[in-house]
Amino acid sequence: MAVIIQGKQIARELCDTIAREAGAFRREHDLPPALAVVLVGDHPASEVYVRQKVIECGKAGIRSEEYRLPGSTQQAELLELIGRLNRDDRVHGILVQLPLPDAIDAVSVLDAIAPDKDVDGFHPVNVGRLSTGSDGLVPCTPLGCMMLLDTVIDELRGKHAVVIGKSNIVGKPVALMLLERECTVTVTHIATQGLPDIVRGADIVVAAAGAPRLVRGDWIKPGAVVIDVGITRQKGPDGRTRLVGDCAAHEMDHAAAVTPVPGGVGPMTIACLLNNTLKAARRLAHG
Ligand code: NAD
Repeated sequence: MAVIIQGKQIARELCDTIAREAGAFRREHDLPPALAVVLVGDHPASEVYVRQKVIECGKAGIRSEEYRLPGSTQQAELLELIGRLNRDDRVHGILVQLPLPDAIDAVSVLDAIAPDKDVDGFHPVNVGRLSTGSDGLVPCTPLGCMMLLDTVIDELRGKHAVVIGKSNIVGKPVALMLLERECTVTVTHIATQGLPDIVRGADIVVAAAGAPRLVRGDWIKPGAVVIDVGITRQKGPDGRTRLVGDCAAHEMDHAAAVTPVPGGVGPMTIACLLNNTLKAARRLAHG
């Protein structure tokens, strides 16, 4: 039987550790680590994500500031706000919730965030740091994937990892992190030919395609570890909406370990956001 990697519990333990360390930071510096969250418009899913992030910050002793701007906000106004947050010494992390309204150029906005406050790890400076192996802020979901892998694999070095998906948010950064740990990494995507056979050679599979149950049990080598990042909302026969991953986990008893959807990678993403905020606060405080 494959081990089910308990992302929810692992994330809770990480949040507990962060809460202790955030308390120590507050006592040492006489101010708490702080995250500014910027939401533009009224995208319903973004509302939920922002609320969850603010709640988890509160539980971990990280101060959060919410900036809710109308969908009609001009790019210049948003850039002005980011400039102010960049200069504010009491703010250590800045997160602009995506997607932004069409009239705003998301790339310009993300590039305006000070790299040392870029807790999402999307700024080109942090992407560059990740790709050159120097210390920076890295994207939360890929960081969560790596932490989950470390709970079930002692030594990543030399393992063959297949990443499905090449997005800037998940696929590419997780591939770089695996490479940094000296895995042999194959990055695949929608145009990849013969995906099942490529996956059959993998010791580690990270599926981030957003294609429900794309990865079947007979693609998985016995003893492989499967990290399922995919989340798709699907209506079941009972008419209720459920979250479906990229992997047919019920066909993967012969795997060493698999992450469930929901309750696997998802909870790690917010925990890693808190982790990055604390890291940013320490780096800014110590210069
Ligand atoms: P994206 O749409 O930006 O990228 C998807 C990638 O998968 C692309 O590179 C595409 O080429 C590849 N792909 C799509 N269909 C494929 C197929 N049939 N075969 C091979 N490759 C295929 O998506 P994203 O932002 O990287 O997110 C991927 C999935 O992960 C989504 O389901 C998303 O909801 C989920 N996600 C989850 C979390 C989390 O916290 N758990 C965070 C981010 C994204």
